[in-house]
Amino acid sequence: MAAIIVDRSLAAELVKGLSASGATSTPVIAPFTGEVLYDLPTSTPADVADAAAAARVAQLAWLRIGFAERRRILLKAHDLLLADRERLLDVLQTETGKTRGQAFEEVFQGANAARYAALSARGVLMTRHRRGGIPLVFAARVSYKAKGVIGVITPWNYPLSLALMDIVPALATGNAVVQKADNQGALTILATRRAFIDAGVPAALWAVVTGDGNDIGNAVVDAGDYVCFTGSTATGTKVGLRAMARLVGVSLELGGKNPMLVLDDVKPRQAAANAVYSCFSSMGQLCVSIERIYVERPVAEEFTAAFVDRVKSLVQGPALEYTTDIGSLTNAAQLERVTAHVEDAIAKGATLLAGGRARPDLGPYFYEPTVLTNVTSDMACFAGETFGPVVAITVVDSVDSAIADANASEFGLNASVFSRSKRRARQVADRISAGSVNINEGYRASFGSIDAPMGGMKKSGLGRRNGREGMLRFVDARTVAESTGLMTLPRTGAEFAKLAGVMEILLKTLRAIRRR
Ligand code: NAD
Repeated sequence: MAAIIVDRSLAAELVKGLSASGATSTPVIAPFTGEVLYDLPTSTPADVADAAAAARVAQLAWLRIGFAERRRILLKAHDLLLADRERLLDVLQTETGKTRGQAFEEVFQGANAARYAALSARGVLMTRHRRGGIPLVFAARVSYKAKGVIGVITPWNYPLSLALMDIVPALATGNAVVQKADNQGALTILATRRAFIDAGVPAALWAVVTGDGNDIGNAVVDAGDYVCFTGSTATGTKVGLRAMARLVGVSLELGGKNPMLVLDDVKPRQAAANAVYSCFSSMGQLCVSIERIYVERPVAEEFTAAFVDRVKSLVQGPALEYTTDIGSLTNAAQLERVTAHVEDAIAKGATLLAGGRARPDLGPYFYEPTVLTNVTSDMACFAGETFGPVVAITVVDSVDSAIADANASEFGLNASVFSRSKRRARQVADRISAGSVNINEGYRASFGSIDAPMGGMKKSGLGRRNGREGMLRFVDARTVAESTGLMTLPRTGAEFAKLAGVMEILLKTLRAIRRR
């Protein structure tokens, strides 16, 4: 059994980076062992206001140093993240209970996001000329102005990568950040932030606060010139409404009930091996994780058998090396939720093919990876997000019915299609209502493609992170248009009478030559 790996002096050192003066603190539990990892100081609403005021001042200087210097600093932070990789992995694993491999995925993704934003910001935000409304008479150009202070609210499940996917593009585009960390992710965030501070990001430019969602979360929403929220649909809806009351923009990255479609031309064993990873990475505590599999009848038996075999062969346990395949749930509430979903399904007639029980012998929140079949609409796990290591396999008689089932959800975050024919898989992908669809992969192809937007349809969210879209969130477009002086526009009735005909001819000419 792993002991607590993060030595307490490191935790004590890292928490100095918090903006937290509250009289209270919260014990943070290490999921591998159930022991108290450290006491996390709590911020007050006044701390949030102070942090936002300091961030506002720091942002002005950050903006002045320009793209090239910001790029240099952010690329250095990328290098420091990699240099400090082993310690980051220790902190991440200790705080979340995930395996070394899945912790590594976070560092990889975070570094990827940092490099991308650092190298892309200037190109995305370059001032560009646009067509004037009347050729030669008007000229227009568009420039971008950083919004100022970005409020970022992050969950506990992917504390490093999800934070960096919002924060680095915010910084690269010239903004400051006030981040509310989830209690269970704060240490990882502080360890990550340290690489940025050491690289030259001013400490006040990226403030981290902690505390109760309603209290401190609201204060962060109220302090931001834009708000990025990652978390549940219920909380995200509240955050969106609150920001909207101030006419402040938001991006909401919310929950999912992500389907995988396995077509009848797959090699079942190969498809099953990849499918398993997509369901149980970080114990399924991943917004884009697969929770529903629709498999076409001709390959269903072989696929399901191979899938279950593979699940049963996964090595589970606490380890700070790459020796396990799956780890622990992150907290007691997660264990309760997963247990309730599985018990409810079984009580209502679902068939258990693998897993279905907690493993207190491994640690307090361990739960076996679980495969169900015969899941019906009266069960909690049918349509509701489990956010845990539970997947339901359903056999379907056609691709059309698989697509219909996949789309019959209030969510639309991620989906996956397995087929040996890329053409067929792409055609299916185009019919799925989800912000991302992965072919012959569960989530890693889209999640890792940092140049492409990520986000949800329907109740899975609003707005997009990553890519150009993920950067343009953080700026306001400013159009500067001018009159060239070549022609005086009509101002009086008499002038309109004289020029209306000419202007109509102009419109018809533009239409004829198809000028936009
Ligand atoms: P959550 O909504 O409970 O909490 C998320 C964050 O919001 C936490 O930091 C929390 O303290 C804070 N918060 C809580 N109440 C708040 C309020 N009223 N105002 C402002 N902030 C508040 O979600 P969770 O349980 O931490 O995370 C799991 C959920 O997040 C799942 O539904 C999962 O699918 C989703 N998620 C989505 C993505 C994505 O990119 N789409 C990524 C990861 C997780």
